[in-house]
Amino acid sequence: MPELPEVETVMRGLRARLEGRTLDRAKVNRPDLRWPFPKDLVHRLTGAKVLSFRRRAKYILMRLSGGDSVLLHLGMSGRIILTPGTPNVLTPHEHMALETNEGWHVGFVDPRRFGSVDLVPTATEDTHRLLAGMGPEPLDDAFSPAMLSAALKGKRTPIKAALLDQRIVAGLGNIYVCEALFRARISPLRLASSVPGARAARLVPAIKATLTEAIKAGGSSLRDYVQPDGELGYFQHAWKVYGREGEPCEACPGTPACEGIRRIAQSGRSTFYCAKLQR
Ligand SMILES: [Zn+2]
Repeated sequence: MPELPEVETVMRGLRARLEGRTLDRAKVNRPDLRWPFPKDLVHRLTGAKVLSFRRRAKYILMRLSGGDSVLLHLGMSGRIILTPGTPNVLTPHEHMALETNEGWHVGFVDPRRFGSVDLVPTATEDTHRLLAGMGPEPLDDAFSPAMLSAALKGKRTPIKAALLDQRIVAGLGNIYVCEALFRARISPLRLASSVPGARAARLVPAIKATLTEAIKAGGSSLRDYVQPDGELGYFQHAWKVYGREGEPCEACPGTPACEGIRRIAQSGRSTFYCAKLQR
């Protein structure tokens, strides 16, 4: 499932190829993904100029000359494929396709169809039902230790669950929450209400650094954020705890009490952490 850094690199890849270009053609190959496509989507896209892009949480917003923004979510399995010229063979599960005036083909491929495409007036993007009520972007200055401390005050849930709550901070998913808690040396089991103050002051920079490094890895491993096969945005990760159950913990080598990376279930999802290091 794409998380914030992947969505950011997909957005940057789209920006590199689409910003300032005109959409000569648009097509949808079925009536819906997670939700129906807007009825006039093809009409509104065709002939529009792409003005700019923005990411909000795990959503990509593509602003068009007619005053619409396309709100795109990759869901569980969504991918964007960029190819020069109209492809001879249609990619399986390509549900939406765009073609730019420079002849680039942009395909939205989503086998499991948990993704979504909607239109929202650019002037009121943040009032869209999927974006309204979201907390600050983790990389914005508004997401600060003071802000997080206030949001966690009195919260009787584990800190991991609190960080996944999109109303507290937007766009964090399972993988990067595990990574950030490891970096901040905070146990995922710790009550959120005990994090305000010194721990929040460690946690906020840890979240920002974890995300920034992942975005940087995506940018440096891919030319224009595009893989050789035309797919946007995915890249090799170097996670320190995620998916590393039973492996030695790199933060406490030689420490007898460190049993390596442990996996537990929290709210039905896997949490990876070092029980020695993270308190
Ligand atoms: Zn350890």
